[in-house]
Amino acid sequence: MLSLPIYLDNHATTRTDPRVLEAMLPFFGERYGNAASRTHRFGQDAAEAVQVAREQVAELIGARPREIVFTSGATESNNLALKGVANMYRRHGNHIVTVCTEHKAVLDPCRRLEQVGFEVTYLPVDRDGLISVDALANALTPRTILVSVMAANNEIGVLAPLAEIGRLCKDRGILFHTDAAQAAATIPLNVDELGVDLLSLSAHKMYGPKGVGALYVRRRNPHVRLEPQLDGGGHEGGLRSGTLPVPLLVGFGVACQLCRASLATEADRLRRLRDRLYHGILDQLEDVVLNGHPTQRLPGNLNLSFAHVRGEALLMSLYHELAVSSGSACTSANPEPSYVLKALGLDDELAHASLRFGLGRFTTEAEIDFAIDAVVRSVRRLRAISPSYHLARASDLQPAVSPRA
Ligand SMILES: *Cc1c(COP(=O)(O)O)cnc(C)c1O
Repeated sequence: MLSLPIYLDNHATTRTDPRVLEAMLPFFGERYGNAASRTHRFGQDAAEAVQVAREQVAELIGARPREIVFTSGATESNNLALKGVANMYRRHGNHIVTVCTEHKAVLDPCRRLEQVGFEVTYLPVDRDGLISVDALANALTPRTILVSVMAANNEIGVLAPLAEIGRLCKDRGILFHTDAAQAAATIPLNVDELGVDLLSLSAHKMYGPKGVGALYVRRRNPHVRLEPQLDGGGHEGGLRSGTLPVPLLVGFGVACQLCRASLATEADRLRRLRDRLYHGILDQLEDVVLNGHPTQRLPGNLNLSFAHVRGEALLMSLYHELAVSSGSACTSANPEPSYVLKALGLDDELAHASLRFGLGRFTTEAEIDFAIDAVVRSVRRLRAISPSYHLARASDLQPAVSPRA
């Protein structure tokens, strides 16, 4: 028996893996020490658990443990990377390059930096959601101090050519940050091979708990310096003050270890399920558009626009069956369709008509088959009452009804 609704919103958050929860529980109970209190056994125990977590996180991305700065999540990591570098390297230049389809947790800090005198170039993307590395190269100036390009997009799953960008930045002596919140669970990432200097992670996007993440900060070749954004007890090498949330860190560490253990097989499994979903829908419905590059994308991501249907109406009709999200903002405060889909060149109507499917570790084939059926039924039902759909079908039929000429 399937338990409904089926969760296909793994880009928004993932379920905490039961093994992660299990590992965390003692630290909510009897192992409650403060990792900074090294004068007794409670503190030592906590400090040792934090060190294990630091090693597990570092290992996933090929980093050294002391290059991991624990934060509250990818939003904070991105803020620390962007503002920390901008303020520390200001005398070298005031120019930052990023991409218009980045997460708000990159775009909003960039906007803030613009207000205090930095210049930011927002690179466009093509129809598939990819940036041009040549355009990136052309955007770099002697004043450029930082390039920030996300590893995988949270709406369309498109993967960036990190190694190429890393080489380019290294050649020019420019720091390279990547927001890897979406990529880390399924895409192998090695900071040295990719030439990444700063990398953001979020535990709750990789089957760990919410409220914890990390920023990788390169310590040699070059040694990246950051202006701390919080002043306090000088935790995390002075880069991020605040008592460490030991239970969350323990969970984050185990989550990284589990992702690492499944890297070799999980992408293939997800890709097979995702392709089954895609073809299952396309075989039964016409006028469906794939958003984002067909292959250069996260294995668990599918983003489709269903012409002649409103995303909100589709979400509502699927409410009891599928937990998915739409490129159509549901809040009345923001009637704008997704800026990511708009950046691909989609018109408002198709951007509003989109669904994002995020498959994950706990997604099964039976769930995918149910999802195909639910989507096809809902879209057919909504199109049956959509005037624009009937108009489009009528004009398709035009040649067939004029044989008497
Ligand atoms: C979820 C997400 C974030 C925000 O992460 P939090 O840990 O929730 O702050 C940032 N960037 C990307 C790409 C994300 O998917």
